[in-house]
Amino acid sequence: LFITFEGGEGAGKTTVLRTLAEKLQKEGRPVLATREPGGSYIAEKIREVILDPAHTEMDARTEALLYAAARRQHLVEKVLPHLEKGGIVLCDRFVDSSIVYQGFARKIGVEAVRELNMFATEGRQPDVTLYFDISPEDGLKRIGDNKGREFNRLDRESLAFHEQVRNMYLQLQREEPERIQLIDAGRSLEEVTDTAWKVIAEKL
Ligand code: C5P
Ligand code: MG
Repeated sequence: LFITFEGGEGAGKTTVLRTLAEKLQKEGRPVLATREPGGSYIAEKIREVILDPAHTEMDARTEALLYAAARRQHLVEKVLPHLEKGGIVLCDRFVDSSIVYQGFARKIGVEAVRELNMFATEGRQPDVTLYFDISPEDGLKRIGDNKGREFNRLDRESLAFHEQVRNMYLQLQREEPERIQLIDAGRSLEEVTDTAWKVIAEKL
């Protein structure tokens, strides 16, 4: 079972992912909790290049190619072997993130990014995607409150950028309502975690 976690800044997906991974582990289920970009040696190296706070000049297509390369390596090296053993994979971000961020918000084009990722993944899709929906105002406020959060160069975007991210996620969700489950992430972390758990439990 391949489950991906998607959403904008401060939606809580990383926190919820950790909690759910622990819960599954306690039930004795073989769970792999992982993240994008990264999750393997090579993919983490690529992540460092993408997120390096020291540079601001990265071209949007270069960035899209790096994300796709990291995704490919992580998929082949970590995700697929775990799925083949019958395991559950919880992955923080996947192709939808690239469609939303690189394709739409950074304006490369949704179709171009879809095709690039089709190449990278050979069409492997998540079985279910949890989309954590929150208004950019509320999301950014949460991030401001989280002092321990890892900072990167991509965090310095305008509110309008985050609005675009949200709108594109919502559009993807309307296009694929079966795969992409909308979760209202504006509620308390407990409520959000409960809802996410119910969605996953149904698929087990
Ligand atoms: O996964 P995380 O929330 O840590 O991602 C941090 C930032 O990385 C996002 O807010 C976004 O600006 C950027 N990002 C991106 N393209 C992706 C994934 C993440 O631009 N495919
Ligand atoms: Mg984040």
